[in-house]
Amino acid sequence: MPTSNAILACLPPGAWASVKDSCVLLDLAKDRIIQRLGEGVTYVHFPATAVIALGAETVAGETVNVTLLGREGALGVFEACGSRHSYVQATVQIGGSAWRMPAPVYRRLFGECSELRQAIHKYVEVLMVEARQAVACNALHSVENRLARTLLEISEKSQALDLPITQYALSQLLGVQRTTVAASISGLQRQGLIRSGRRGLVIVKPKGLEAAACACRETVAFTRKDIQSRTEETCDA
Ligand SMILES: [Zn+2]
Repeated sequence: MPTSNAILACLPPGAWASVKDSCVLLDLAKDRIIQRLGEGVTYVHFPATAVIALGAETVAGETVNVTLLGREGALGVFEACGSRHSYVQATVQIGGSAWRMPAPVYRRLFGECSELRQAIHKYVEVLMVEARQAVACNALHSVENRLARTLLEISEKSQALDLPITQYALSQLLGVQRTTVAASISGLQRQGLIRSGRRGLVIVKPKGLEAAACACRETVAFTRKDIQSRTEETCDA
């Protein structure tokens, strides 16, 4: 059983046994595009240690990476059962591993496995909570607070303290100028919470960084835990 991804971890052993021969554990390199905007969704990806950036695009052709997806979620789980097309570009932000399942296999499993359906329904709920909290966070909290929160989230998703992420990528995720991110990084460095690393940034004091982060991460974590703890069958179809 692949417990490295939270959604796959919900599958009963028999359900995983029925699909495992169709699945591949990929080693995804940083900057690899695994889903292009407008393409058909032929695979569903379940990250283990890889972190995937999801980009939003305007009709004018502007693209910006606005959110990150890691081991707590999956890419293509909604599209594979809906439009079967991608309205987002997905790029590997932090290299690592991810399980890849063909979309037809996923659709069959979704139809047969109530545990998978329940996991996906709860994942939708968590995503909605995260989206609302992101709007509140942008309105209420300082860039330095948000940067600390974002670094902790990346660390959590990639299970690492050494984060291969650039100031440019952070500026996109936070929706601010790169120079603003640079000033906030300097602020956290002066407090001894992070330092520059060979590949990007290194978290030196996780507990200190938690104290410097806004409460949005804890708010989402609390709600996610509450949603996951509810065991009632949420839907029969
Ligand atoms: Zn916040």
